[in-house]
Amino acid sequence: MQVKVVKFGGSSLADAAHFRQVAEIIKADPSRRYVVPSAPGKRFKDDVKVTDMLYKCYEMTKAHEDITDYFRLICNRYYEIIRELGLEFDISDELEYVRNSILHASGRDYAASRGEYLNGMILAKYLGFPFIDAENVIYFKENGSFDEEKTNEVLGAELKKFDHAVIPGFYGVMPNGTIKTFSRGGSDITGSIVARAANAALYENWTDVSGFMMADPRIVKDPCSIETITYRELRELSYMGATVLHEDAIFPVRNAGIPINIRNTNKPEDNGTMIVAATEHFDTKHVITGIAGRRGFSSITVEKDMMNAEVGFTRKLLDILEEYELAAEHLPTGIDTMSIIVNTDDFLKVREKMLAAMERRLKPDRVVMEDGLAMIAVVGRAMIQAKGTAGRIFSAISKAGVNIRMIDQGSSELNIITGVEEGDYEKAVDAIYHEFVN
Ligand code: ASP
Repeated sequence: MQVKVVKFGGSSLADAAHFRQVAEIIKADPSRRYVVPSAPGKRFKDDVKVTDMLYKCYEMTKAHEDITDYFRLICNRYYEIIRELGLEFDISDELEYVRNSILHASGRDYAASRGEYLNGMILAKYLGFPFIDAENVIYFKENGSFDEEKTNEVLGAELKKFDHAVIPGFYGVMPNGTIKTFSRGGSDITGSIVARAANAALYENWTDVSGFMMADPRIVKDPCSIETITYRELRELSYMGATVLHEDAIFPVRNAGIPINIRNTNKPEDNGTMIVAATEHFDTKHVITGIAGRRGFSSITVEKDMMNAEVGFTRKLLDILEEYELAAEHLPTGIDTMSIIVNTDDFLKVREKMLAAMERRLKPDRVVMEDGLAMIAVVGRAMIQAKGTAGRIFSAISKAGVNIRMIDQGSSELNIITGVEEGDYEKAVDAIYHEFVN
């Protein structure tokens, strides 16, 4: 039988009503065999995620504060779910064990991981599926990186024993037996790892939106959603701030050629976004796949006569950046000028010293700095075949009365990046979107 791995995010498992919805989705397709849950997320806007509550318990313990009352709030979230589902399941010993372990310095990651562990137990009971503790199947190496080989072997063999199972997301085990988590949002990564180990045909990632939108809905009103996107396009868009999926979640499935389908638990009838390795299919109507952007960039422009003839100039400049551990985000160049776009927060930490080093070692005619830039990436695999895309982007921006401060087109023609002043950011994104979608 075909295997699908399904991961449900925290908002999809925040309360009993969502648990019911999740069970319905799983039962609707028998190939949805392995389930990866997050910890209960927010039920309403100002609610607190269970993971954040667990981190807080850890901090309180460290500060020698009493966690009794606060931990009870966590217990209540689980008790409420169990009660409202009408489950015969006494989770109080487990909760007591977790509380004691937090009190006895079992570590920050251990505390955080219990959100998924407990939620996974409840979900397994509710679905009638076996529970596989991630602690026994997901491994990290001594240096803290994920141990892909060992995990694949052990997890792959374990999954073969069960037709269905629930495997909690977010954590695994270090060689010394302690619990370690991935970074925040890491259940997405677990889902991908399980899909890889199960040799799944599809990894469905269920969340609270119907996939990726072509642009940020806080900027563009009701943007179209993206039907199909390649891993590379997604990487470009997420680098620029589009967040739905944890960035590292692509790697395990990407290597195995397993597509990811982002779906909406609250609207299971929507097809969501399909993330694939490559596709011939593209949206001819729109040409572009998506637009994303970020504020908070600075540019450093170095001017020097005859720069183009000075062998090794770029290397010297990049050496200085490396010494000050500053990443060059983009490097648009002219004949006698070279600009470096950097993250403003990182730049501020080293600014004065680094500029002094540039004066000393590059002997430039001028160094000009500018803060307050926003970068906008227009991404699309179809751009390579469509003439005039760059022209359309630039004229849309200028028609909106926005001044373009920088242009950078990757040689892959997968994206075109423009820099504008932060104050113009939203206007420019909206203008580009409506140039391509009407
Ligand atoms: N519960 C964890 C977090 O809030 C992991 C996850 O939801 O993916 O970051």
